[in-house]
Amino acid sequence: MDVAGKRVVIIGLGISGRSVAGLLARRGARVVASDSASQPDRQGELAELESRGVEIETGGHSRTLLDGADLVVLSPGVDPASGPAAEALKRGMKVVSEIEAASWFFDGSVIGITGSNGKSTTTALTADMLLAGGISAVAGGNLGRAFSSIVVEEPEAEVIVLELSSFQLEKIETFRAETGVLLNVTPDHLDRHPTAELYEAAKARLWEGQRQGDWAIYCADDDGATRLAGLAPGERLSFTLDGRPAGPGAWIEDHEGTTHAVASLPGSEETEPLFALDDLQLPGSHNLLNALAAALAARRYGIRRNAIGEALRAFRALPHRMEPVGVIEGVRFYNDSKATNVASAQAALSGFESGVVLLAGGKYKGIPFSPLREELKRCGTAAVLIGESRPWLLNDLEGTVPLHEAESLEDAVTTAWRLAGDEGVVLFAPACSSFDMFSNYEERGDRFREAVSRLRKEVLERE
Ligand code: ADP
Repeated sequence: MDVAGKRVVIIGLGISGRSVAGLLARRGARVVASDSASQPDRQGELAELESRGVEIETGGHSRTLLDGADLVVLSPGVDPASGPAAEALKRGMKVVSEIEAASWFFDGSVIGITGSNGKSTTTALTADMLLAGGISAVAGGNLGRAFSSIVVEEPEAEVIVLELSSFQLEKIETFRAETGVLLNVTPDHLDRHPTAELYEAAKARLWEGQRQGDWAIYCADDDGATRLAGLAPGERLSFTLDGRPAGPGAWIEDHEGTTHAVASLPGSEETEPLFALDDLQLPGSHNLLNALAAALAARRYGIRRNAIGEALRAFRALPHRMEPVGVIEGVRFYNDSKATNVASAQAALSGFESGVVLLAGGKYKGIPFSPLREELKRCGTAAVLIGESRPWLLNDLEGTVPLHEAESLEDAVTTAWRLAGDEGVVLFAPACSSFDMFSNYEERGDRFREAVSRLRKEVLERE
């Protein structure tokens, strides 16, 4: 789409909003960017946008904001059901997400990765595999740099690997991920998507711009992903830990005497090795699924076993995803602050045998915590609960392990440590988003890490 001379309103001045403002201003649009919050920390960046002719409005939206606009771009953090976004939709204006707008200006290949959990890890893994195979790939989207920034800064990239949230997918029109990966679909974000069906529908939009011959890669072990894969118009490839799938895809079997991930690709009868399971340095079967998905996506661009294995051997957990943050008198602490929903906390628990004190809680999303019961009974010894969601956690987890409450994260860390005994584990996997007490999961994870080091110091000083 040609945006030159068009009046574009951008709602939300987070990373994506600022990036798309810069991109569209460079393409000659008359950009107004507006945020309900004041932005004292971002004066420098905003001044740079202003120097490109972007009109900035912070601390509220003016009444005339939408008047005369040809296009409205929503940042992923902005709820389309309220404020100027809702008004724009009511007026029948063209409203798109940041990835849609960025996609108008990129001619290379796009791999789009979505799902309820595992997106960041799979996105980073895929980009690493492509790079190891000599392809100029850049990872972004929800992870790190916005798509718009990559388009501006690295227009020559051969492949952009995008982590896509349901919010980004909700407002696309012509965006095409020639390779789409759907990891899993479990209820999440029901505070913003009115129903589970609408959340699923947003995820299914991943396939919408696909054409015949494009690849739709999905997890056959996940009912939601399998159901939605049926809507993909291109080649469907599945990955599974449960034997060989019916069509093309990836699975686990013995190869040359060791356990390997292997694949059969569309149009080929051959089974080829992708990687040895020993290559994967990340714990848990969920990470094996993520690696299978990444390897299939990379395989589309000709990446083979050597480069895939090399990338996997070098890959370590991203921060805030099962990150080991210390040991105090035999008790190991793990920061899984990125476990912002019930399914991811469940996956985190599944990686332990016993002795786990779960530290959970945060902003309530309207989703029951009962799926945690079984794992908690199997490997847990206690749980310490924080934040707004405590009443629901107490109710849904009653009768599993002893439940304790704490007013602050710092108190919760101390309580959890005392409960963990000599050789236990404190797992911070909140199963909730962070917005009741923190600005995001990174700040929450950093605070957890700090609380652990403070406690370690106190304990050492006492000795
Ligand atoms: P996302 O970007 O979708 O939030 P991440 O890769 O950041 O995903 O992982 C978030 C959390 O979800 C991790 O801390 C981990 O505990 C859990 N997780 C990762 N991959 C999966 C998966 N395939 N299925 C279920 N849970 C997962």
